[in-house]
Amino acid sequence: MIIVLKPGAPEAESKKLKEMLLREGFQINEIVGVNMTILGVIGDTSAFDPKRITVNDYVEKVMRVQEPFKRANRMFHPENSIIDVSGVKVGGKKLVVIAGPCSIETDEQMNSVAASVKAAGATMLRGGAFKPRTSPYSFQGLKEKGLGMLRAAGEANGLPIVTEIMSADKIEKFVEDVDLIQVGARNMQNFELLKELGKTKVPILLKRGLAATIEEWIMSAEYIMSGGNENVILCERGIRTYETYTRNTLDLSAIPAVKKLSHLPVIVDPSHAAGMWWMVEPLAKAAVAVGADGLMIEVHNDPENAWCDGAQSLKPERFASLMDDLRGIAKIVGREI
Ligand code: PEP
Ligand code: MN
Repeated sequence: MIIVLKPGAPEAESKKLKEMLLREGFQINEIVGVNMTILGVIGDTSAFDPKRITVNDYVEKVMRVQEPFKRANRMFHPENSIIDVSGVKVGGKKLVVIAGPCSIETDEQMNSVAASVKAAGATMLRGGAFKPRTSPYSFQGLKEKGLGMLRAAGEANGLPIVTEIMSADKIEKFVEDVDLIQVGARNMQNFELLKELGKTKVPILLKRGLAATIEEWIMSAEYIMSGGNENVILCERGIRTYETYTRNTLDLSAIPAVKKLSHLPVIVDPSHAAGMWWMVEPLAKAAVAVGADGLMIEVHNDPENAWCDGAQSLKPERFASLMDDLRGIAKIVGREI
């Protein structure tokens, strides 16, 4: 952290600041110029609030030279993290493909989708049991009953399961039954939920919030990691912009950005980004090309009659042909599916 004092700041003020920083355990490198004094603060400032400095009238500005996240920071962990989700490795050479319907509806639907995505090469099965819906009158999910159906379909097809948690009171159940616990976009900054998930060891799929910056998103990962659970996978799912043609705007630049800032794996969900099935294929290809560690894709056996998000769901045949195309793209960028 670098502190620039205003020209003519009294010596006593600079001394006061230095004493406070020393008490906090930092070292100080002071540069005294003709008009200005600059204090270089040495040490881990991630837990230090710069407002404690900016509040001083004689401070011109405070600049962080290091991101406010530590455990998620690539600087302190140069190697890519590889997260093991019940035997499926996420973040290595092989891309993870999570596929399945938006919501769990029936045993027949889950079994049919699970068998077809498995045959096409998907490595995990998704399905929502607790649904975060914009309208309270929309289908809210089959809850515990749905979780049982997802688990049965996953077991029958040898696929680890991914599903969204909405509240901390369900953690015990999820820890028992779910291989990868999803925190949805709307809960990315539910800090109490993140803290509780940090106390578990279950891998967490942390989706980017609807209007979250990349730094805010990584800070949410930091919440989980600082609690002791380092098994975090990030998921870019589009952000809210002024564009209304698509459901969200897929921020593909977030992938190389996250890769530079953090060692955590990052995957892309083109389905919730686009909101339209025909856009899923080109966006999925682009995601692999920019270095995503995998994809989450909504697939439904009967999208016309889906209980949720049918318009953005791929039919199993289209998903299978997309997987074939993705194999070629993955190879070009040195990855595998
Ligand atoms: C989902 O994956 O089912 C979902 C609701 O996604 P998001 O939180 O990204 O909207
Ligand atoms: Mn959905």
